[in-house]
Amino acid sequence: MIADNQESAIDNLGALIEAARVIVPFTGAGISTECGIPDFRSPGGLWTTYQPIAFDEFKASAAMRAESWRRRFAMEAQFSTARPGRGHRALASLHRQGKIPAVITQNIDNLHQVSGFAPEDVIELHGNTTYATCLDCATRYELAWVRERFEADGRAPNCPACGGYVKTATISFGQAMPEQAMRRAEELTAAGDLFLAIGSSLVVWPAAGFPLLAKRHGARLVILNREPTDFDAIADLVIRADIGTALEVFIAF
Ligand SMILES: [Zn+2]
Repeated sequence: MIADNQESAIDNLGALIEAARVIVPFTGAGISTECGIPDFRSPGGLWTTYQPIAFDEFKASAAMRAESWRRRFAMEAQFSTARPGRGHRALASLHRQGKIPAVITQNIDNLHQVSGFAPEDVIELHGNTTYATCLDCATRYELAWVRERFEADGRAPNCPACGGYVKTATISFGQAMPEQAMRRAEELTAAGDLFLAIGSSLVVWPAAGFPLLAKRHGARLVILNREPTDFDAIADLVIRADIGTALEVFIAF
């Protein structure tokens, strides 16, 4: 059902949260927009300005690897100063209260971790842009390490351990989905009795599969998003509102 008034919708959400045993949040870009992180896919977003660099292009060309890092460092001021928003803090509160075992996210901004979730309790479907890894041996590199070398000669550094390419720990277009994260996300969704889709258009695969999976396992489905989604008709509650405003009542600290 689509709530016709926001106050009663938030009351209804509160009742569902109260009654739930295992809440599974699934978050998209909308939870981070109040933190200053752009929604790359939205009209006017970064990906409508720049054609994203696909995984094959990154691997095929030193120029593309350099361009990829140039773009990443151009956004560093936004990412490094972003702090968790009200939505992140509300979910972290429910996590502390034992209602949320882990959060599933499409976001790459690390803000759930900063808000109080342990890294192992954040299931990242699209990876994380706040650090880098070697594509061959998976050694982790900090962005400052990459930046120092990139700024010295304008070239993307390779892994000192094995010579592999070093890339932000994100999942690029054309790159395989992270199998372990996908498996964990599916298991958690199946185990939950309340699935909260927050700030995701639920269009991009695999996001689109989760609301159905949750419903198939008998969970209640809540969709909190500014815009309509394809799954509103099967949701138990649809809240079309600003995410921070809708969730701030659940912040407990
Ligand atoms: Zn390596």
